Amino acid sequence: MENIHPENITTDRLLIPVFTERDLQVDMLRLDKLHPVISGNKWFKLRYYLEQAKTTGLRTLLTFGGAWSNHIHATAAACYLNGLQAIGIIRGEKPAVLSTTLQDAGNWGMQLIFTDRASYREKKIPECIDQASLLIAGEGGYGPAGAAGAATLLDYCNTTAYTHILCATGTGTMLAGIMNRCAPHIHCTGISVMKNNFSLPEATRLLLQDKSRLPSILHDFHEGGYARHTPSLLAFMNDFYTQTGIPTDFVYTGKLVKAVHELALKNHFPAGSKILLIHSGGLQGNSSLSKGTLIF
Ligand SMILES: *Cc1c(COP(=O)(O)O)cnc(C)c1O
Repeated sequence: MENIHPENITTDRLLIPVFTERDLQVDMLRLDKLHPVISGNKWFKLRYYLEQAKTTGLRTLLTFGGAWSNHIHATAAACYLNGLQAIGIIRGEKPAVLSTTLQDAGNWGMQLIFTDRASYREKKIPECIDQASLLIAGEGGYGPAGAAGAATLLDYCNTTAYTHILCATGTGTMLAGIMNRCAPHIHCTGISVMKNNFSLPEATRLLLQDKSRLPSILHDFHEGGYARHTPSLLAFMNDFYTQTGIPTDFVYTGKLVKAVHELALKNHFPAGSKILLIHSGGLQGNSSLSKGTLIF
């Protein structure tokens, strides 16, 4: 497997009429170009776990996720590249046919352990596993080490001129990392990809260095809920690709860009705003859609 290529990361200007007509400069940080399979922000969230494996000598990384989890996929690939063992605790019974995400993870040597939903919710680790020899990363890479890693994604972009940074938000780890790293005058906003996940601001705040800040998270752009999609979202992603040549994923970055488009239409951003969107990757998740749904 190819190694990661941070030097491929670019910041692309989005010259779309909805933005340009309102005097909005909108740029996109293309973390999707880091690696063909280790999806964007997941590598950043994992990097300190991988370093801990090197410094502590613990050679196995255990983590949690669902059948289409970008985090499971990225963890399996990153461990494979770094010569580490990976264990994935997977939500739900083992299906007759594994998702392509889990097939890939298995091919890269991840041990997949399926657990019922109740045990999964409690993040139980099966007793047969010797916990003393493990590093454990939270679901989605959530945790201080994940946030510290995510903060370093801003090393690939000069953020000083921006007024706003927006990203898609699942666990809040990436948003916390960004808030910890960028100048305090920049408005950072997370677009929640889940329906009514109102614990998210608090989960994010717990990872902030300055705990007096309350993260700004918008809850109206989930398109039906986590990993759900609407015909208008898929049509929007195809349009966006036609206009910019940039592929997005339907779980995270498609919802982010559609949200920003709708916010711009409602004149949410003052004229002259300079907005940075984080393309956090996740394109592998599109393989769960039926062929031909997306034009890219
Ligand atoms: C996991 C993921 C996110 C969410 O990141 P959090 O740190 O969990 O909020 C956003 N975008 C993509 C593409 C992801 O895979």
